[in-house]
Amino acid sequence: MGTISNAEGEIEIQRLPVNSEEHTFNGWTVKYTKSHILHSICRTSEKCKVKSEEQCLLCLYESQLELPHLPEMVFPNNRLILTHKTGAFIEFNALDALRQVCNGKEYIKVEVAYSETWKESRLPENLGQKIKPFDWTFSSDYRGTVHNSAVITPTEERINMEKLKEKEKILFYQELMLYEDELHDNGISSCTLKIRVMPSSFFVLLRFFLRVDNVMVRVNDTRVFHDFSTDYVLREYTNKECGVNELSLPLTVFGDPNLLSPHMPLRTAIYEKITFPATKLESTGSLEG
Ligand SMILES: [Zn+2]
Repeated sequence: MGTISNAEGEIEIQRLPVNSEEHTFNGWTVKYTKSHILHSICRTSEKCKVKSEEQCLLCLYESQLELPHLPEMVFPNNRLILTHKTGAFIEFNALDALRQVCNGKEYIKVEVAYSETWKESRLPENLGQKIKPFDWTFSSDYRGTVHNSAVITPTEERINMEKLKEKEKILFYQELMLYEDELHDNGISSCTLKIRVMPSSFFVLLRFFLRVDNVMVRVNDTRVFHDFSTDYVLREYTNKECGVNELSLPLTVFGDPNLLSPHMPLRTAIYEKITFPATKLESTGSLEG
């Protein structure tokens, strides 16, 4: 399909086609949508100002989030929705991931915790005095958006990672990027997800990865697992982070969170069980983060 351009020759992202696939496995519908990066200039500002329900995606993001600027690359149409046969669901999307960016507090945390190696010059140039401090690393502890009819409780049960390593047929696989920022050439901040569905289960890995060059690294992982023979979903969140000087590893390892993560100390872990309603929902309820 061709792209649609306006007079200035820029692609109008909202009119581009959205890739989408939907499959059903054991009573679960797995749907993803995938499309282009969020545009950086609002071309319908008059309409966006007046009618909030007709806002363009950029204006929606700017009005919903308290961030003075957005990551360089945001994928507003990249979403994954896992719908239970009752209509309740778990969803992953960029807007909700960015809502979880800890404004202000997290910025101070990075600066103070790694102050030995911290250089003021690392701050993005145009930030500083003009804008109040915010988390320019876009660190998110997003664990997915869960329909409010599902019940989330702490659990002792763990995802059997060894079983996931067993060779099993992959019925469905997809990777989605939610957002990414290169921190003004000072590193990388990215939020991505992968899903695979096998005959016995599905598994989602949502990963926030941060590397502030020569300063620190952070990996926030959310693993969502469902064994089709059970009536619940397991969700595990882990936060790993440390100063770069705490790890004596080859430089190339710092570019790959898969290689890096096993060497990083665990700071936080949250283990949850998500139970879905027993009967079909009458209508779609509201969401909780
Ligand atoms: Zn707009």
